Amino acid sequence: MKRRTAFQWLGAASTLLLTLGPHELARGATIVAVRMWPAKDYTRITIESDAELNATPFFVADPPRLAVDIEGIEIVPALRDLIGHVRADDPNVAGVRVGQNAPNVVRIVIDLKRPITPQVFQLAPVAAYQHRLVMDLYPTEARDPLEELIAQRLRELDQAQPAPQTDDPLGDLIAQLPGEPTTQTPRPAATAPPPPQRPETYATDPSAPASRDPARPAFSAKQRPGAPTTGGRVDRLIVVALDPGHGGEDPGAIGPGGTREKDVVLAIARLLRDRINRTQVNGHTMRAFLTRDGDYFVPLHVRVDKARRVEADLFVSIHADAFYTPRPRGASVYALSQRGATSAAARWIADKENAADLVGGVNMRARDAELQRTLLDMSTTAQINDSLKLGRAMLAEIGRVGRLHKPQVEQAGFAVLRAPDIPSILVETAFISNPDEERRLRDPRFQADMADALLRGIVAYFSQNPPLARSRAL
Ligand SMILES: [Zn+2]
Repeated sequence: MKRRTAFQWLGAASTLLLTLGPHELARGATIVAVRMWPAKDYTRITIESDAELNATPFFVADPPRLAVDIEGIEIVPALRDLIGHVRADDPNVAGVRVGQNAPNVVRIVIDLKRPITPQVFQLAPVAAYQHRLVMDLYPTEARDPLEELIAQRLRELDQAQPAPQTDDPLGDLIAQLPGEPTTQTPRPAATAPPPPQRPETYATDPSAPASRDPARPAFSAKQRPGAPTTGGRVDRLIVVALDPGHGGEDPGAIGPGGTREKDVVLAIARLLRDRINRTQVNGHTMRAFLTRDGDYFVPLHVRVDKARRVEADLFVSIHADAFYTPRPRGASVYALSQRGATSAAARWIADKENAADLVGGVNMRARDAELQRTLLDMSTTAQINDSLKLGRAMLAEIGRVGRLHKPQVEQAGFAVLRAPDIPSILVETAFISNPDEERRLRDPRFQADMADALLRGIVAYFSQNPPLARSRAL
């Protein structure tokens, strides 16, 4: 883009003043809203306007800051508000400055807390949004989801009371030495011992093959060095990826009372995480990993990628359904389909959920590069068969706490269920568009009941399909 000096801008502006008058001069893109979504993964700043903004970003490495010049606008209160949107606990942004750099050019300077690789891009109007100028501030050193799992584990240990617990001496030791766990090497810490509170244990089918198969190897990433063995079997951590749908710019479905899908599904996912982390199945400690633990947007392929990086044994995406009319109600469970959807309704739901990337705002260039890579990974029949088993176990349990919309697992081409090596389901917990079910979704009691049902479904699945029996060589 051709750059002009302030002097030239002044000259141009004076000319316009003469011919158009101040009213017309002020006309141009109008800022509709500014939003900021801080998260450890990345911080997003969105400037929404009624016309496309002409923006030029400059990145300065030392000290790290991103400057963006926006032409054709004047400073308006909405832009100044951006300064007040910065939160002290934002992991990436230290502060924002906004100034009129030249007539009709506003410069936004984002002071950063650490080295950042920015992505600045425009989004065309979609859903309720007009034009969006998006600044995504990714830490140059990307977070490793496995480290996140470790950090989560260490937080649990910090919060845990040093209550006496005699059956896991190593766990007690770590719990009593708050400074020590951080010195551990990452991978062993990911497989740290069960929390000091007494875990729930579930008896499992004694005929389950893995529990009698000491020869079957465990996986190194989940194996605690020196871990106690049970009957010759190495202690194996079970990792369950929980995927609260939507987030950030993408509210998901909105109920008639204003309840946002992204909020209620995150609440349920957090309750389910706590339950999973307190549960053992077949003698194995379970650990939950959230693909997002906050209100920010995570592209669909990133959710899948995160689950694969923590070597999740299961992937459970949590959503709330919506329809144009208030009547439909009940929960549904979906798995991936390789050949078309099992019903027109299932295809419609998959299309709706897959649109999350458009509403949430994905940088298409970055996404396309990623998709080229993942297209090589074809989903397999084995993954879908396991997903159907998991889905049936879930439906049986969900049916005990609420109404079912569909009594069988439906299938369609959900982008978020495409991990080729992880049984993956998407649960529509209830219809947020139904006023009764919207109320239930907000009710902590229902959220807890749903989390309990999802946990029982997961445990039932593992009881019948022990993780060690599943081949990873897909
Ligand atoms: Zn959804």
